[in-house]
Amino acid sequence: MSACLLRGYAAVRYEWAELYQQANGCTGCGLSQARTKVVIGDGNPSAKIMFIGEGPGRDEDLQGIPFVGAAGKLLDKMLAAIGLDRTKTYICNIVKCRPPENRVPTDAEAAACLPYLRAQFALVQPKIIVCLGATAARYIYDESVRITRDRGAWKCKKGIWILPTYHPAALLRDESKKRDAWDDMKKLKAKYEELCPESGWKAPSGG
Ligand code: SF4
Repeated sequence: MSACLLRGYAAVRYEWAELYQQANGCTGCGLSQARTKVVIGDGNPSAKIMFIGEGPGRDEDLQGIPFVGAAGKLLDKMLAAIGLDRTKTYICNIVKCRPPENRVPTDAEAAACLPYLRAQFALVQPKIIVCLGATAARYIYDESVRITRDRGAWKCKKGIWILPTYHPAALLRDESKKRDAWDDMKKLKAKYEELCPESGWKAPSGG
């Protein structure tokens, strides 16, 4: 696997309108065949924090918005617990079309779709990337990532702080992971306060 978000992103020169036009008509990989809607992204296009998941599920495919199903609702709750929401973050996925039966995207599908993610990254210019699950972490910074081993450990690549954590769908399947996920949210909160004091953002008390 040679795909990596941070490799070559500076060469991307899409504007938002062009990105949406290209992605909405994309047939760059086989995932285009069964999709209902292309799921590009949601949230604040100038956010300092970018959440990246794996790919759209059924609800996302129908609505064209990332993280709107059960896992998305859990993500919204986790954000709220540290005083964040979609007006302060940008949320997207490695692939923009739903893999059949929610399977993991293939390397070829991820590589075909990565230019869109690079364009989103170049436009948003986040200071922090949160990788939701192993697939995101593998394509963003390290193909050898194991999420149970590496979650919660910050990486800094090219000045971008990267935090791998569990995908919220994994938390729905295994509640015992929620404690670790909450620890990761607290680390995110602390890093955001450190890197973005100008945001005036204050964590909820008790968080
Ligand atoms: S997953 Fe990405 S590369 Fe594949 S068809 Fe959809 S937008 Fe194009």
